Amino acid sequence: MSGANAVREDRLWQRHADMAKLGGTPKGGVNRQALSPEDAAARNLLASWAKARGFSIFTDMIGNLFVRREGSEPAALPVLSGSHMDSQPTGGRFDGMYGVLAAFEALEALEDAGVTTRRPVMAVAWSNEEGSRFQPGAMGSAVFAGRNKLEDMLAVKDWDGMALSDALADTMKAAPAPMREGNPGFPLDSYVEVHIEQGPRLENERKIIGVVTGIQGSRRYIVHTEGEEAHAGTTPRANRKDAFAAATRIAAAMYEATADADDTLRFTIGRVEVHPGSPNTVPGKASFTIDMRHPQDVVLEAHEKKLLDIVAARAAPCIARIDRVTAVAPTDFDRRVIDLVRAKADTLKLSNMDMPSGAGHDAMHIAKLCPAGMIFVPCERGVSHNESENATPADLAAGARVLVEVLVELANR
Ligand SMILES: [Zn+2]
Repeated sequence: MSGANAVREDRLWQRHADMAKLGGTPKGGVNRQALSPEDAAARNLLASWAKARGFSIFTDMIGNLFVRREGSEPAALPVLSGSHMDSQPTGGRFDGMYGVLAAFEALEALEDAGVTTRRPVMAVAWSNEEGSRFQPGAMGSAVFAGRNKLEDMLAVKDWDGMALSDALADTMKAAPAPMREGNPGFPLDSYVEVHIEQGPRLENERKIIGVVTGIQGSRRYIVHTEGEEAHAGTTPRANRKDAFAAATRIAAAMYEATADADDTLRFTIGRVEVHPGSPNTVPGKASFTIDMRHPQDVVLEAHEKKLLDIVAARAAPCIARIDRVTAVAPTDFDRRVIDLVRAKADTLKLSNMDMPSGAGHDAMHIAKLCPAGMIFVPCERGVSHNESENATPADLAAGARVLVEVLVELANR
């Protein structure tokens, strides 16, 4: 029996159902915030499954949880696969969790099929990918890859002022695992992450497997406008310095400037604040956030220039400035891993297409360390970060089958 044949659709589906109970919401989604009691419960469940199969587990100082299936050469660099178990507050059952469970299913399938690999094959649940409780997101993989400092991240506080280090200590108490001391991170041979697409392209194109070529880059900004508070009833237009009116002029021009013909650039204003926030006072201050994404850095650069020009040109009679908060460069996955994913999908006769990832994933950080790639499967109507997120058992199993074959090939190189 090959590894792919040993993937069990029913087992993989049941594992999703079991995990969905931890932080499950009445609408069928999950609320499993990073380093919460629900997160700890998920860690314990994964660990119990791992122990039952005789796999070893360990965690690191940022809370990444690893499961290891030994290879015939234990000293050889491991092949790693996984994703995350935390969720958005109104998250779905599959975002992240599927990548962890597919990786674990791959380990089980190798065990069931009696496949020996030269390299160890490992599954990982990266800590705090969503970044909804503790920011930034993709924190566990970023620290693992040396992109963020452990001490800085341990000091991050959540919305209640709780330090991440305290939440992590609570989680480790509730879900104990052998600790790999010191700075997180160790050498890897390669990394493959499986994920639901979180967009509608595979479904629209009627393909089962997305061969992910890279992850688009993103830049975030905050625009601040400042005018002057005034009486809403008595102040004529000519005397107003309405900070919100300036913000809307700037925003409208930005929507226009970022509407590219091929619909690749993503531009979102997701949060607006108006001060003092009184119905009968002309706003003296306003701010809004911008999230802009594209697979090519030069395009992001060019549009950033446009945003700066708009802020300068449209603020009067108010003043305005734009601050860049973060810039994440696009990720190009390793050509050999991309080709391997496509070849294995073809061998398994699974329809597939090459595509970039619209969302960020832990793989963007790990791709800086070793050859990396991703495998997507469809999710219903492309809906994600939503309690109604859904995927079919057959598609989830298909992704896991491709993963097993890819991992075996990588682990025997
Ligand atoms: Zn995710």
